[in-house]
Amino acid sequence: MELKVGDDFKCPEGHKATVVWISEDEKVIAVKCPKKHLKKVVKRAGAMERIYDNNMVFLIEI
Ligand SMILES: [Zn+2]
Repeated sequence: MELKVGDDFKCPEGHKATVVWISEDEKVIAVKCPKKHLKKVVKRAGAMERIYDNNMVFLIEI
């Protein structure tokens, strides 16, 4: 597989993300996804509230 920084790659949730880093042995890459992802669920005033974050970076073994 020949990946370069800047290439498109799917994030773990299937969005179109961008490769931002590749390890020296090319076994791990980091992809940055501009879409929203569920970060955590917190309980507030008795209700569960979902906290989302975007521009997350994922490490993926390839
Ligand atoms: Zn994503």
